[in-house]
Amino acid sequence: MILQLKSSVSAQEVATFHEKAGWFVVSRGQDKFLVLGSQVRSIPPELDGKVSEQWDFDTDIQLASRDFIAETKQITFSNGVTIGGDYTRPAIIAGPCSVESREQLEESASFLSSVGIRFLRGGCYKPRTSPYSFRGLGKEGLTLLAEMREKYGMLIVSEVRDATHVEEVIEHVDIIQIGAKTMYDHGVLTASGRSGKPVLLKRGFGTTVQEFVQAAEFMMAEGNEEIILCERGIRTFEKSTRFTLDLCGVEWIKKHVNLPIVLDPSHAMGYSYGVPALTKACIALGVDGLIIEVHPNPSEALSDAKQQLNHEEFSSLLKDCNVSQ
Ligand code: PEP
Ligand code: MN
Repeated sequence: MILQLKSSVSAQEVATFHEKAGWFVVSRGQDKFLVLGSQVRSIPPELDGKVSEQWDFDTDIQLASRDFIAETKQITFSNGVTIGGDYTRPAIIAGPCSVESREQLEESASFLSSVGIRFLRGGCYKPRTSPYSFRGLGKEGLTLLAEMREKYGMLIVSEVRDATHVEEVIEHVDIIQIGAKTMYDHGVLTASGRSGKPVLLKRGFGTTVQEFVQAAEFMMAEGNEEIILCERGIRTFEKSTRFTLDLCGVEWIKKHVNLPIVLDPSHAMGYSYGVPALTKACIALGVDGLIIEVHPNPSEALSDAKQQLNHEEFSSLLKDCNVSQ
């Protein structure tokens, strides 16, 4: 249940509501809303006379529901670039899976900015499946990304592995990426919800659409409205490709959820040969953005080598798709 509080309710009283377990106060401009669980079916007695409007929900997709706010959230970045609400201009987030070295990142940033890409991605804290795999350069990588922002004017997207370095990532990036394996980390969700920075939340590969959007709702309840959802493939019985891109789930999200949705054909497919065709399918479907892994020399990549496009492949994909940035 979401309740809009009357403007006559004092700030002090609002603060006491916010301190109650399971109650969240979120602001939109001057307006204050109280968010209670969907199991609450009637206005609690202590709120008698204090509510100007009420929204009821069957599930805990509330702030993210189109029944609360119908239009897709549009996120505007410092350089005027936007994500959300315009399927004719999907934002493209591109770059290597991991930041590996200054040379690699410089090559990536210089190429990608030359073909008009505004968002540079690169993981520095990689949540890997094996402890023996490359886990990223950590803070050194974040510093390199920040240098590329300065040099090429690109917006930086990088992922958080866990709550131990979430503040460090928040400080260095323009979009905090929360990966498929990290999306249940409540320390990360809470810190990102309070960060004041846009978040790209990737769907866990064993997560239902409902659970996925509820993870976004954790951050929205903390006051962050700038959440971008990312479908990156779920695990099914099919093993011939890495994951299965859940386009039906994407359509469900587009119908019911007011957050931008970005698709990641690279991780879904797992093999570079399928990425261009899948990208075209996503654009035809209508999406707010795409994440595509691009590496100067994919066969030598330290993570996700098989799915990354080289620069030539990425250039021809852009030409084929005709998506100006
Ligand atoms: C990534 O974007 O490189 C990544 C690790 O993605 P995911 O969390 O979807 O596996
Ligand atoms: Mn990757």
